Amino acid sequence: MTYELRCRECGKSWGNQPRSICDDCFSPLEVSYDYEAARPTFTRERIARGPASMWRYRDLLPLPVNYQPTVPAGFTPLLEAPRLAQRLGAKHLYVKNDAVCQPSLSFKDRVVAVALAQARNFGFDTVSCSSTGNLANSVAAQAARNGFKAVIFIPADLEPAKILGTQVFGAKLVRISGSYDQVNRLCSQIADERHWGFVNVNLRPYYAEGSKTVGFEIAEQLGWRLPDNVVVPMAGGSLIVKIKKAFDELVELGLVEAKPVKFFGAQATGCSPISTAVKAGNSDIDPQKPSTIARSLAIGNPADGHYAIKVITGSGGWSEDVSDPELVECIQLLAETEGVFTETAGGVTVGTARKLCSQGRILPDETTVLCITGNGLKTTDALGGKYELEEPIAPKLAEFEKYMESTLDASEKDVPEPVEA
Ligand SMILES: *Cc1c(COP(=O)(O)O)cnc(C)c1O
Ligand SMILES: [Zn+2]
Repeated sequence: MTYELRCRECGKSWGNQPRSICDDCFSPLEVSYDYEAARPTFTRERIARGPASMWRYRDLLPLPVNYQPTVPAGFTPLLEAPRLAQRLGAKHLYVKNDAVCQPSLSFKDRVVAVALAQARNFGFDTVSCSSTGNLANSVAAQAARNGFKAVIFIPADLEPAKILGTQVFGAKLVRISGSYDQVNRLCSQIADERHWGFVNVNLRPYYAEGSKTVGFEIAEQLGWRLPDNVVVPMAGGSLIVKIKKAFDELVELGLVEAKPVKFFGAQATGCSPISTAVKAGNSDIDPQKPSTIARSLAIGNPADGHYAIKVITGSGGWSEDVSDPELVECIQLLAETEGVFTETAGGVTVGTARKLCSQGRILPDETTVLCITGNGLKTTDALGGKYELEEPIAPKLAEFEKYMESTLDASEKDVPEPVEA
């Protein structure tokens, strides 16, 4: 065994089992590795020869022996973003584009892939989760791909595309009239009763490890370098903590040179328990009642909030939050400058980065990576009313010329005809 669960606080070892909490001190469990055993195989050269997916980093993922991957999740593009950079007053800006992650178009595909590998290993035939939307899509899709039954719990009023994008895979969808935090509590109770693999409850330590692959990829795609800054959207706070763990592991195993990286958290103002705590200098969360269109980030009582605060403040970073109108504007800004259509969470990330640049917390010459975690086609309602639809025109050239004439603004009309010499 080269990995096992250990308590994050008291350090007690729990072996490998579907469990997320230490019974002795009620702290979360974390996957820990024998790094010396990984050292010979986890090298730049071996990784480069691996598949173009997150499985190229399998030696530092908690996978069953001889596990055969079934979905090509991860290894999404890291895009240089010069036009967005110019608008934000930065120079070396990158977008990590998990809006195109396979198979369900969000970074959740990474975490679900690892959780389901263990679900099979532990003998579950039904997998489940509480979800703000993207996790529902990913569990449903990957359950179908792997022949599991899926039972998915969501707050009743999620975005229609996220509801349909769960049902289409044949999953049983249980809508709860309540907040995500209430849905999640219910799932913890059900997990005690039924022998089901809840990816973000009893399989949570394994699930969370999948997020490390975002950090591994950022470093590899920058040419085995760490960035100066990362801006990460936060719901439960797990992703930001795991990107930090990934960077630390790469340093530990000698794949990148050690360097200080600042971690910046992004939230919507209508659900900002982590950024509120960071701004107030608190090391723990005050739970909030969410009210924002950024539904995928609307967790009022984040499970890893305490650890996210630690990563952010320990790195010299910061956390900000943006209003709903700002995040919508930033969805448009990213789309118009870089051709990437992100969901509400991505609008939060871009809006937060813009604030951090104007506050001087992110400097123009630094290398900064924005984590874009989900796809805009899932939250089109956020753009409702932003674009008007003109009357159609007849399929005639003359009609088109007339149309173009009518859309010219006054300054263009005043341009004189070119005079022949
Ligand atoms: C779940 C989610 C996040 C945040 O993940 P946590 O690890 O819970 O903080 C960010 N973006 C999107 C689109 C998500 O679905
Ligand atoms: Zn403990």
